[in-house]
Amino acid sequence: MIIKFCGAAGGEVTGSKHLIKTDKGNILFDCGLFQGRRAESVQKNLNFLFTPDEVDAVVISHAHIDHIGVLPVLVKNGYKKDIYLTDVTDELSRIMLLDSARLQVEDAKFFNKIHQKDGLVIEPLYDEDDATKAFGFFKKVKRYESFYPVESVEVKFFNAGHVLGSSTVSIKIDGTKILYTGDIGRRNQLILKRPEFDKDVDYLIIETTYGDREHTDVSGVKEVFADIINKAVKNKGKIIIPSFSLERTQEIIYLLDSLRHEKDVFPIPVYVDSPMSVRVTNIFNKHIEEVDFNNDFTTYSRDDKDPFGYEYIKYISNKEESQALNDMSGPMIIISASGMCEGGRILHHLRNSIDDDRNIVLLVGYMAENTLGRRLKDGAKKVKIFGLEHEVYSEVRSMDFFSAHAGQSDLIEYVKEINPKKGILLVHGENKSRAGFKKVLMDNGFKNIFMPDYGEEVEI
Ligand SMILES: [Zn+2]
Repeated sequence: MIIKFCGAAGGEVTGSKHLIKTDKGNILFDCGLFQGRRAESVQKNLNFLFTPDEVDAVVISHAHIDHIGVLPVLVKNGYKKDIYLTDVTDELSRIMLLDSARLQVEDAKFFNKIHQKDGLVIEPLYDEDDATKAFGFFKKVKRYESFYPVESVEVKFFNAGHVLGSSTVSIKIDGTKILYTGDIGRRNQLILKRPEFDKDVDYLIIETTYGDREHTDVSGVKEVFADIINKAVKNKGKIIIPSFSLERTQEIIYLLDSLRHEKDVFPIPVYVDSPMSVRVTNIFNKHIEEVDFNNDFTTYSRDDKDPFGYEYIKYISNKEESQALNDMSGPMIIISASGMCEGGRILHHLRNSIDDDRNIVLLVGYMAENTLGRRLKDGAKKVKIFGLEHEVYSEVRSMDFFSAHAGQSDLIEYVKEINPKKGILLVHGENKSRAGFKKVLMDNGFKNIFMPDYGEEVEI
């Protein structure tokens, strides 16, 4: 069989798409949005390295937009077969894709408005109708139960501990077993359970987002966060937090609440300005069984029917309330999406706050290359938002504690546990991450390690 790497390969971290081609049919694993420079993104998100009729089934690992974000494009181009996912991923994907559609329509409208004079016009990739059409092909499957997307190809989901509903995926074809990790969580994290894997694996396709480095230990998180909050309170500034609506926002809310109880932190109003975060938080409450019942969070949520709802946190859904935040003075915390500052309401908050030195932009997630989030993280003094230049006067801080991805030592532990017999393929990592991880794998005695390029076909 052949694995064709059609995204999140060759040093890319977004746009996951892996096509496994067999005599019985072809299965696409994930169908994610590429995020980066505008022109390259448009090109890659409209033109796939396969045609829809080459694909006999789609299997989705989890609901992050870089793993599901172009499903509507695939369906728009004529794909009419099943899309397999877990029930939680099904629920979350609907929210994520409708939100993505709305963002693209709104951003295109806003971009076109401010560029009216210079004649620049962009089109959204898809709208809510296109997203809804894709839902018609969703097929829910249970974790740990075998299903057959094409004849005699057995697929099974295990918990990936990365975001709610996320799965590692085992694929068995003619006696050969491949394990695709999707994205994998850490051994110790704030909310979710530790990842699990199938046994007797021949080939491993593994994400390497943090393949060359470790995360800062979670234990210091509260001190740092408390310092940042106290500084904003003193300066009457705003703390702007770009955050993925799924997982990260819930982790931050949980931390904020425990800080209020344990540390000397002044009361500060918190606005969660993302309609999607509100909906995702409801799904967390509904599927609290996915949460790890052996950590701090448990004690927290056990007696609380609404563990992410607190009287001082205001969840904002409508646009008017969101815009009203621009005119309100600090101190306050605004948590908004998108996580890498590539679209959505966070762009408006940054536009309004970034030129004021009382404010703090707090980065809490992975920022892919060529995104606005990465430029801020790298210390840019001037940035473009909606194509217009802004000076960065607010302080930009990063906290690496929160990652939903395994760091290097976790990844190595997982590979040892999986112990693939025939080969390891490294995806979903910048080239320096993949190279760093390859070296550590070799130091640990693993052989046949490949770093596939974008569009490369590997025969196994
Ligand atoms: Zn992910």
